[in-house]
Amino acid sequence: METVDIAIIGAGVVGLAIAAEISDGRDVVLIERHNSFGQETSSRNSEVIHAGIYYEKDSLKAQLCIEGNRLLYQICETHQIPYQRIGKLIVALNEGEINLLELLFAKGRDNGVHDLKLLSEIELKKMEPNIQAKAAIWSPSTGIIDTHSLMKHFESQAKEKGVLLAYGCEVTSIEKKTSGYEVGVVDTDGEKLSFRSQVVINSAGLSADKIAGLAGINVDTAGYRLHYAKGEYFKVCSEKSRFIRHLIYPTPTPISLGIHTLLDLSGRMKLGPNAFYVDEIDYGVEEAHRKDFFASAKSILPFLEEDDLSPDMAGIRPKLQAKEEPVRDFVIKEESGSGLPGFINLIGIESPGLTASPAIAKYVKMVVDEISVYV
Ligand SMILES: Cc1cc2nc3c(=O)[nH]c(=O)nc-3n(C[C@H](O)[C@H](O)[C@H](O)COP(=O)(O)OP(=O)(O)OC[C@H]3O[C@@H](n4cnc5c(N)ncnc54)[C@H](O)[C@@H]3O)c2cc1C
Repeated sequence: METVDIAIIGAGVVGLAIAAEISDGRDVVLIERHNSFGQETSSRNSEVIHAGIYYEKDSLKAQLCIEGNRLLYQICETHQIPYQRIGKLIVALNEGEINLLELLFAKGRDNGVHDLKLLSEIELKKMEPNIQAKAAIWSPSTGIIDTHSLMKHFESQAKEKGVLLAYGCEVTSIEKKTSGYEVGVVDTDGEKLSFRSQVVINSAGLSADKIAGLAGINVDTAGYRLHYAKGEYFKVCSEKSRFIRHLIYPTPTPISLGIHTLLDLSGRMKLGPNAFYVDEIDYGVEEAHRKDFFASAKSILPFLEEDDLSPDMAGIRPKLQAKEEPVRDFVIKEESGSGLPGFINLIGIESPGLTASPAIAKYVKMVVDEISVYV
């Protein structure tokens, strides 16, 4: 039977970043059920390089987002990956929201985002003459990135370092052996194969809880059950795109950052994502939600008409918290404590997972370096 040192499950941006980071001198295989990388959440998101403002202090989300933000800009500059340090405004519409904005400003600073600025209504008008709001936080280190190019870059780096890319292979079983794991896969022709790996890294996105379950972890006891929170986008007709210059976010709610106004790298404007829990994965966009998008955006963007909006795309967030439950942090854990040495779970890698991806990869490498001493 074929044996490798490390098997990574899932070729989204996180699995690819890990493959590019940890492959030096090790036999690594990256297993992906689709025929190419990034077919799920990594190509269904806002493509924003977040600054790290919103997350709980010292959480993995805060630390890895801030580190990932720094690393992503470096990677983009060194490897010609399209990006723009466009900056973001988080706006308040009334006195109540201004109070929340001040708390958010303090939280961001406390997390180590030191370039934030509070703007008055007049200062805001100078930056964005066409929007209406009473105050804003200005975040200059928020940007946008071409995620496909980033994933392609990680894939090329992984290939150069000798990582075997097993596309079209779905992991269907994981069995603990005296040393390492036997991983069973089914390829697109339905053929079953299996191999041994000393270390298994579960970066299976929306299916990460199922993969943990395959390895024998009770996902409910461990608190690993994923809940799907869908986010839809509506595009805005091109004539209106020139009315804004930066990303515009409302004051956030407990379950989402709110429907924001995005510009992509070609200057096209879109609105989204909304957030609602679903039972099934379905990427359709409800035309009927146009009214809610319009109502929420119109209060900030007075130039908008409902007919300017048309359905765009949707993504699904793998959330550890069910509806109305408190926000949870990323789980990145080596499972020796559950009798699975060398099995590393990455669960609940929702936003800011894209931003954090290069920092997550370094963190996972550190975990692997520690465990390789005894596996
Ligand atoms: C609406 C929305 C907006 C977002 N906006 C942002 C943003 O602006 N900025 C930001 O930083 N983050 C954002 N995110 C979060 C970000 O997109 C994710 O954190 C990131 O893409 C997660 O990457 P991943 O590799 O963990 O997961 P995925 O991209 O889902 O990859 C997991 C891979 O595992 C594979 N897989 C699963 N099961 C198996 C199996 N059994 N065998 C083989 N392969 C398997 C899947 O096919 C998939 O390719 C957003 C997310 C959503 C949903």
